[in-house]
Amino acid sequence: MSNLWTRSTDDLQQLEQSLQARYEAYQSRRLRLDMSRGKPCPEQLDLSMGMLDVLRPDEALRAADGTDLRNYGGLDGIPEAKALFASFLGVQTGEILIGGNSSLNMMHDTISRAMLHGVAGGEVPWSKLPSVKFLCPSPGYDRHFAICELFGIEMIVIDMRQDGPDLDRVEELVRGDESIKGIWCVPKYSNPDGITYSDEVVDRLARMVTKASDFRIFWDDAYTVHHLSDTPDRLKPILEACRAAGHPDRPFIFSSTSKISFPGAGVAVMAASEHNLSFIRKQLSVQTIGPDKINQMRHVRFFGSADGIRAHMEKHAAIIKPKFEAVLDILESELGGLGIASWNKPNGGYFISLNTPDGCAKEVVRLAAEAGVTLTGAGATYPYGLDPRDRNIRIAPTLPPLEELRTAIGVLALCVQLASVRERLG
Ligand code: PLP
Repeated sequence: MSNLWTRSTDDLQQLEQSLQARYEAYQSRRLRLDMSRGKPCPEQLDLSMGMLDVLRPDEALRAADGTDLRNYGGLDGIPEAKALFASFLGVQTGEILIGGNSSLNMMHDTISRAMLHGVAGGEVPWSKLPSVKFLCPSPGYDRHFAICELFGIEMIVIDMRQDGPDLDRVEELVRGDESIKGIWCVPKYSNPDGITYSDEVVDRLARMVTKASDFRIFWDDAYTVHHLSDTPDRLKPILEACRAAGHPDRPFIFSSTSKISFPGAGVAVMAASEHNLSFIRKQLSVQTIGPDKINQMRHVRFFGSADGIRAHMEKHAAIIKPKFEAVLDILESELGGLGIASWNKPNGGYFISLNTPDGCAKEVVRLAAEAGVTLTGAGATYPYGLDPRDRNIRIAPTLPPLEELRTAIGVLALCVQLASVRERLG
């Protein structure tokens, strides 16, 4: 198809009419398709059903250190879970803390504690300062931004490049502003771009000079084993890089099995320097007597090892890869060569990030909604819900059945064309 920007007004008017007819045909189908959140589909959840009877009522439910899994205790995790998830994240067992069912919960609590009590080695609780700012590589994860909003932390948008955040800008800002206390990173198969940070980006984040001595990297490694390719991306370990750069306390790493076993019933983990963890453990011991050890053991038994997790993820990939391919095929056949949209082809993760012409994303989402397809709100991938160019749309292909997904992406692609033609006609 030829580039839309080079077509005559007559041509565009005709095109608009034919697009409008196709749009009305979709509307008459009274579709009700929800593409708004990145949830696993039921077939993916079925893969973990074996976890439900992996522990038997007639066995002694004890951890390797003798802890009775049925009783209170085990503030930061049973030894088997620490060993499993340390190996999964490539850290030492002394550098990991096992949490509850949600890494987002751990991130929220980590910020909350920093606001109320400061961080290890920090002099002042962040909430006592006149202002606290966070760098937000964008497009990014809306729930990170919501945490900042809740705590009144000012967010600064950092552009994403093909190899991670714009580090020239990050370095310049953190060098000069003491109130910048942290940065949100989804370093592998990022939400929503599917980008994995390059070694150079990891090293620069580890090395950079920050005016705030208690600066922290919030390293949300949510998609660390969520590959969609036989040649998966590799992420340089941040804890090692920071240690080597003389900033061992800089990273807080988070992850979970939400999109490995069951979202909402998985195991969440946090990794950091021993100094950071001993500071956090003291506060945690007031907050809780301990997380769900039975669920930890279920995960340990079911997966066995980090390799067991990787093998399990291959089964997930077999289910969701055709969905990603379907989205990419439709985008290519409907929008390729028109000069109105660009999208990423991720090697893993949960999303495809689509960019429309500037000023069109909100209109595309509105048009799609009126044709019965709910997408993630335009702007959601930016702090305060404000996409400065109003162009980014997050596509979450995993949940809908393949046929519904095809229809929904067909609608989306049509809406992108319609909004772009109208924008061009003015
Ligand atoms: N982090 C990222 C980047 C996510 O995309 C998600 C879920 O979509 C989460 C965290 C949520 O993780 P959890 O279920 O462990 O709270």
